[in-house]
Amino acid sequence: MKHYDVIVVGAGPSGGHVARLLAKQGFDVALFEEHHEIGRPVQCAGLVSTRVIDILGGKKGVINEISGARIHSPTGEILTIQGKKPKACVIDRALFDGIIVNDAVSSGSVLHLGSKVTSIKRKGGEIRLEAKKDGAKEDYGCRLVIGSDGVGSIVARSFGFPKPKEVLSGFGAECIIEKDIDLDYLDIFIGNKIAPGFFAWLIPTDSGARIGLCTSRDRKNTRRNFESLLRHSEVKNRLGKIKIERYIAGTIPLGPMKKIVSDAVMLVGDAACQVKPLSGGGIYLGLLSGGHCANVAKEGLESEDLSEKKLKRYPALFQDDVGKELKRANQLRKIFLELKDEHIEEGFRILGDEKILSFIGEKSDIDYPSGLTKAVLQKAPRLMKFAGPVLKSLI
Ligand SMILES: Cc1cc2nc3c(=O)[nH]c(=O)nc-3n(C[C@H](O)[C@H](O)[C@H](O)COP(=O)(O)OP(=O)(O)OC[C@H]3O[C@@H](n4cnc5c(N)ncnc54)[C@H](O)[C@@H]3O)c2cc1C
Repeated sequence: MKHYDVIVVGAGPSGGHVARLLAKQGFDVALFEEHHEIGRPVQCAGLVSTRVIDILGGKKGVINEISGARIHSPTGEILTIQGKKPKACVIDRALFDGIIVNDAVSSGSVLHLGSKVTSIKRKGGEIRLEAKKDGAKEDYGCRLVIGSDGVGSIVARSFGFPKPKEVLSGFGAECIIEKDIDLDYLDIFIGNKIAPGFFAWLIPTDSGARIGLCTSRDRKNTRRNFESLLRHSEVKNRLGKIKIERYIAGTIPLGPMKKIVSDAVMLVGDAACQVKPLSGGGIYLGLLSGGHCANVAKEGLESEDLSEKKLKRYPALFQDDVGKELKRANQLRKIFLELKDEHIEEGFRILGDEKILSFIGEKSDIDYPSGLTKAVLQKAPRLMKFAGPVLKSLI
């Protein structure tokens, strides 16, 4: 049986990042991925902040940059937000994952591709894993296991971690389009009929557009909602004829998850529900927490103390970094879920003021949206009527 210091289960961005950081520290790291190709199938719209690109230290994998957004109300009112510089990037998600995982491998991690972890348990003072590759079973042992195996994580299930509080359904497609579109603007569609409990998007790429939506209510109809989105007049006008190249579907776990470490076990990324509650984006938080996870894992491995008590420093560091932001974002999401379409229309009327829109364009930050909410509420206190006490607590 092969033994490693660390086994990382799941070679998405979170797992690839943790594996590369630990391998760079000289630990014996193995990275398991059930699929035969990194980054495929793509289950992501591929929009990230420029911060994510900075963490990776280069623009490889970036297709185009986004500096503005058009937000569409249920009845078709549009708020246009324009930033002075790019706020977000559209990435080739498969290439992006490949860059991270290649770095993990060139830093010394052993990649087990097409190898699905099928069981994990504690035995004889270590963690034992069984993986299936091409029908054959293989056994492995390690001092520490890191579950970066996404929503439905086998690592989380095997050690009795809590389930996500909520799971969103996402459905979309990468499309070839008839018309030319602005490459630096994305469109967001809000409304209880369009995307119940979340929102829909239209993201331009160099070869077409990514169109899709997430829903948190009426989830079995997500695909039907997507088909209606394709018939939306604004989508048709802007894109002309659409040819679907590839569907993009998946689920997104929302937290917070109360417990993400136990003796010799750590969870990171979607497996730990580290997802932004307002946008469903998980790449930035997965990379950010991956850094904390790797630092605390290093301390535990070096001191030969991988107890839950020792590893708890990891969620504490994550909380120090983004705990407040996530708490506020969760409160805002609760308010959003209560809004009826007529409330959204009223919100659009209040926000449709040149000064407020240019302020939003200047200050918006897709990773940390709650700070902006606070400032916007001060400029447009009429918004307080939607959930006065909760919103007041944000100021
Ligand atoms: C429709 C949709 C659109 C999205 N759009 C965006 C977006 O625009 N921006 C953004 O930031 N986020 C977006 N997300 C969320 C984003 O995709 C995730 O947050 C992100 O992929 C999480 O990365 P991860 O590495 O934690 O997990 P994943 O990327 O899910 O990686 C987990 C890996 O583990 C592997 N695995 C699972 N089980 C096993 C096993 N038993 N053995 C071996 N391997 C295993 C899986 O194959 C997978 O490769 C979107 C999600 C959806 C569904």
